[in-house]
Amino acid sequence: MNTGIVYSDKYLEHDLGPDHPEKPERLKSIIESLKREEKLLEKIDIFEPSPASIEDIKLAHTPAYIEKIKKLSKSGRRVDLDTPINKKTFDLALLSAGGTLQLGEKTLKGKFGNGFALVRPPGHHATRDSGGGFCYFNNIAITARKLLKEDEIDRVLIFDFDAHHGNGTQDIFYQDNNLLYISFHQSGRTLYPGTGSPKETGEKDGEGYTVNVPFPPGSSDENYVAALKKFLIPLSEQFEPDFILSSVGLDGHRKDPLTNLRLSSKGYEWLGKTSIDQASKLCDGKIVFVLEGGYAIDASTKSVLKIMNALVNPSSPDLPKGEKKPVFEKVKENLSPYWDL
Ligand SMILES: [Zn+2]
Repeated sequence: MNTGIVYSDKYLEHDLGPDHPEKPERLKSIIESLKREEKLLEKIDIFEPSPASIEDIKLAHTPAYIEKIKKLSKSGRRVDLDTPINKKTFDLALLSAGGTLQLGEKTLKGKFGNGFALVRPPGHHATRDSGGGFCYFNNIAITARKLLKEDEIDRVLIFDFDAHHGNGTQDIFYQDNNLLYISFHQSGRTLYPGTGSPKETGEKDGEGYTVNVPFPPGSSDENYVAALKKFLIPLSEQFEPDFILSSVGLDGHRKDPLTNLRLSSKGYEWLGKTSIDQASKLCDGKIVFVLEGGYAIDASTKSVLKIMNALVNPSSPDLPKGEKKPVFEKVKENLSPYWDL
């Protein structure tokens, strides 16, 4: 079965000004490079999205917040200091969420074996009732909620490896036990949005279903590999998801201008391959990656293509030994009431 890619040239119309890092060129570079990869293209189907309905957006956001984004979009004011908004924003945010959830559903129904949502604007900082960090609607959270409504799906795993903590996704599922949220990110002490400490593990029914692995500045591929072995692999096997969604942020790359991590495109290949391998073992290969951040354009493009190659040709990753960080002990301690690690 082919890999599904959702993409539209309309996603390039989302323009926050020449000085804003979340530029159309990020996605343009990825799609143009993909279109030069003839071998990959043989095993890929690219489809055009349609906008999400307001009902779908309500799966993750309050009606008042949706109305607020609609109004701000008309008036052209800001959502927060880093997140401008303009007349096209509301419709493009609907198209971004729509594309992601249509790819999720098509993959669930067996039209594709797996997929990658090449969408803008990104979503993982959008909480139930606030936007920010270049995000308006939470594409991956809306998709997860939609999938969880389907009969075939009892549990969804979201693995978020954007360099920034996905505070929005965490917020939306904080009280849920049918969604396991695992985030690898640069420590909130040193990076926006400041959340994502190991102590944040969920509440009420969701206790234990939020897993935060914060990395200190300078963390490398080897450190991420150790966290894959210590957290992602055992937790996914204990949770047994029916579907895996993954927030892909390439902004942990050492060339990224906004963060202080030291990942390479090889590290992204390991992150991608391990996630795909877990999906093969646990849920019939059903995994959809969703584009979030990544501001060093060439490095992001190269890393995305490595993940796409892994989607098209799944194989078990040959992970190196890895190198643990002291913070892993703190993560393990906070999770010990809930998981066997
Ligand atoms: Zn980010």
